[in-house]
Amino acid sequence: MTDASPAPVAPGERVAVLFDIDGTLLDMRGAGRRSFAKAVEAVFGWPDDIAYVNFAGNTDLNVLQQVMASHRHAMTERERRTFLARLPEELERAAAGAELVLFPGVRALLETLSGDPRVVLGLVTGNVESCARIKLRQFDLHNHFILGAYGDEHADRGRIAQLALQRVRQALPPGARLRSCWLVGDTPFDIAAAARIGAASVGVATGKFSVEELRAAGADHVCADLSDTAAVLRRLGLRG
Ligand SMILES: [Mg+2]
Repeated sequence: MTDASPAPVAPGERVAVLFDIDGTLLDMRGAGRRSFAKAVEAVFGWPDDIAYVNFAGNTDLNVLQQVMASHRHAMTERERRTFLARLPEELERAAAGAELVLFPGVRALLETLSGDPRVVLGLVTGNVESCARIKLRQFDLHNHFILGAYGDEHADRGRIAQLALQRVRQALPPGARLRSCWLVGDTPFDIAAAARIGAASVGVATGKFSVEELRAAGADHVCADLSDTAAVLRRLGLRG
């Protein structure tokens, strides 16, 4: 289904555009990591800065598994649920004290895409759903997305992307054809997740990876940031 051609989208066709959050839309300036560490200490009693965990392109469930492995702890289902309930509380607190960054062009692009009836706009994120909402709400972006798949649904980003694509298909109006699916992200993990579901990928170098690194990871399209709305729309086939 990968369709990287810039030909215009015909009537009755839909284009799905799925966004990663951290490093792609915004930067929480470490609030995510700090809230994770706080929640670990609150629920498990371990002071741990989790500096050994790489958050870029990771998923919250996978990070949690890495922390459990580091402490050689066999987590119970109850502990997992308690942790996932505590994490958004800590994120709210950490976000309140952080100077958060919305990347260039993000607001204009999301406003344009969410106002286009040909577009199905969604999320593929490693964040648990409640944390994804908190992060998007910091910039009043939470109402743009009609669907998503999240980091509390699977530890593997590729599986999260598969869930999102299922929801895209369920959201199509009767008779509409999914012309193409795009996944926009800032890490090679996003590019790999796109490939896993047969989507085309846009690599955005606003996170920890350069344009060259994202291109080397196999991104179908790369850009320094999302500030050139017209260029992104042309690439998605939404503008001639
Ligand atoms: Mg990211």
